[in-house]
Amino acid sequence: MSVEIGASMPATGRVSQMVLSVVLDAPLDTAFDYLWVEPAEQPERPQVGQLVLVPFGRRKVVGLVIDIKESSELPADKLRELMEIRTQLPVLSEAWIALCQFAAEYYQRPLGEVALPSLPKGLRGESAAVLERALKKLAAQAPTAVPAGHVDRPQLNAEQQNAVNAIVQGEGYQAYLLFGVTGSGKTEVYLQAAEHLLQRARDAGQRAQVLMLVPEINLTPQLEGSVRARFPALQVVSLHSQLAEGERLRQWVSAHLGQADIVLGTRLAVLCSMPHLKMIIVDEEHDASYKQQESLRYSARDLAVWRAHQLQIPIVLGSATPSAESWLHGSTGRYQQLTLTQRAASNAQLPQVRLIDTEVNKPVDGFSQPLLIALRERLERGEQSLLFLNRRGYAPVMHCEACGWISNCRRCTAFMVLHKPEKRLRCHHCSLELRIPSACPTCGNVDVQPLGRGTQRVEEYLQLAFPSARVLRIDADSTRRKGSAQAAFDAVHRGEVDILLGTQMVAKGHDFQRLTLVGVINPDTALFSQDYRAGERLFAQLMQVAGRAGRAAVSEGDQAKAEVLIQTRYPSHPLYQALMAHDYPRFANAMLSERRAAHLPPYAFQALLRAEAKSLTNALEFLAQARELMPHSGVTINDPVPMTITRVAGVERAQLLLESSSRTRLQTFLKPWMQALRALKTRVSWTLEVDPIDI
Ligand code: ADP
Ligand code: ZN
Ligand code: ZN
Repeated sequence: MSVEIGASMPATGRVSQMVLSVVLDAPLDTAFDYLWVEPAEQPERPQVGQLVLVPFGRRKVVGLVIDIKESSELPADKLRELMEIRTQLPVLSEAWIALCQFAAEYYQRPLGEVALPSLPKGLRGESAAVLERALKKLAAQAPTAVPAGHVDRPQLNAEQQNAVNAIVQGEGYQAYLLFGVTGSGKTEVYLQAAEHLLQRARDAGQRAQVLMLVPEINLTPQLEGSVRARFPALQVVSLHSQLAEGERLRQWVSAHLGQADIVLGTRLAVLCSMPHLKMIIVDEEHDASYKQQESLRYSARDLAVWRAHQLQIPIVLGSATPSAESWLHGSTGRYQQLTLTQRAASNAQLPQVRLIDTEVNKPVDGFSQPLLIALRERLERGEQSLLFLNRRGYAPVMHCEACGWISNCRRCTAFMVLHKPEKRLRCHHCSLELRIPSACPTCGNVDVQPLGRGTQRVEEYLQLAFPSARVLRIDADSTRRKGSAQAAFDAVHRGEVDILLGTQMVAKGHDFQRLTLVGVINPDTALFSQDYRAGERLFAQLMQVAGRAGRAAVSEGDQAKAEVLIQTRYPSHPLYQALMAHDYPRFANAMLSERRAAHLPPYAFQALLRAEAKSLTNALEFLAQARELMPHSGVTINDPVPMTITRVAGVERAQLLLESSSRTRLQTFLKPWMQALRALKTRVSWTLEVDPIDI
């Protein structure tokens, strides 16, 4: 039985009613109907794109109205009444809902699980008071017209100028791949292109907003500083996961109201509502942190491209080492490639990359003689050095030579890492912590040794080898406290550090002016990884960390002293050879040929079904069942296999890889397959990832 209700129903004291189709943050791929009855005192009608408070089970939750209907299929006694419409907030636009809808369909998630979690918590609470307070605060600080004072901008070089011209001359949608070596002034291109487009919109009497995505929270302050300095009259907000809730709410609402002219943010900002969006910038577009690795596993870069296309606006993807995907699009002309070949600051040179053959110069305690000599020279000259080692902790494992015991985590297929300052063994996968054993747990041998080397151990060595040097370690352990990473980077910028040592945290984006030496301690392991993307990542990482050296303008005659020293056992490896020549195109083209030959992305499209269970057999059986669930022509489904790190925190994990040469065919298969999977009653927990980057 269904009820028919319409605006024409005879009034029974109540004027009119409607049925609203509402999506909620729930793992059900459906919208829910709620009845709206016009209250006498509030004649405003509900609209698509409004947030509403509704009863759901015994809870009250906030949902998003996606449709307004005359009637519901639900029986009248099942149709519950809406509780509240958040009219305080302007509606979310059709375009924004379409963006969420696309993400939901492409990544195979319910719309509600995409749209609602993308909103700040303050909008999703039971009470509207939080939102009202935020709105009041924003109204109070409404933009006062700032006189356009004089702003310094560097004179662009010819390549930068070409890039800016190309971007601002385009009409409608166009993706630009800004391929520029480290220090080539990509930021300046973003800023001047943005300035131009904002100004043009303003001259045409239109409103305009720019979205600028960056990979790392730690990079936002530096960039935010440059952007604010460049646009003193504009409102710049930043959005990232470390903002306090209240702040995040205000920044988001200010973007949604169109008050914020420029939104700077990490990946989550790609779903920010920006009604006047006119340009998107994705800095370091190749960076893996644009990929969200939990719940909605989306690529912010890919969504940004879709959004630009949807809105028919330009998008600039910048990188010194573009992703294989973008490089391919650049070479086929799908993206327009703009190239910056030189460092922008006057006389700043690309550092010289030297490979230290560790067969010849055997490292002692991790350091070869040439690296030690280079460090000493920098100390004597009062210059800064950076040492890169992508492994935190003191040693990746402990072991007993007498009996062969090693510090396995009892809950994971992984080693417990020695953290010496904290006096702990720590599993980086399940966070299990143990005291450092004073003797071997198996044979009682008191001489249990650390094996291998992490940042803490290198730090300890440096303090012994260079007692007067100011050594600073930056990694996830040293920067646990909020604000401590920023403080550490500030100290480096102020010149209070002689040797900076760190993981990939130090590789990205920072413009250290006094740095003339980069040492890479042990990069080789990535050369032999099972992951076909490991080479691409290693090249990007090394290029980026190398790019920290020699960025400052120097006087003539003082040049060419910035060096990058890489310790390796494989100096003739093509990856290192291309790096030495600063030749990313050579590396990238070789990589693409290999990928094409092996039918790997970007020449193939993949999805990964992961299963987790108490027993590996159950996980594998579930995947085998999933594999046979439906005929799959045009899509290859590989055999189920255990994941490399099979067990984490006592849970066994396995995966099933799907591949197709056609994105459409893969998508066409996934939708009904997901429905069939959801219908399976299984105790195995599973997730699907489209375009996985870690396989
Ligand atoms: P990238 O992002 O390409 O690595 P940046 O944008 O950080 O490079 O620029 C590197 C340095 O060059 C910065 O200090 C920047 O201020 C400076 N710079 C950029 N463009 C110019 C220019 N046209 N003239 C002089 N200096 C410039
Ligand atoms: Zn032992
Ligand atoms: Zn563990």
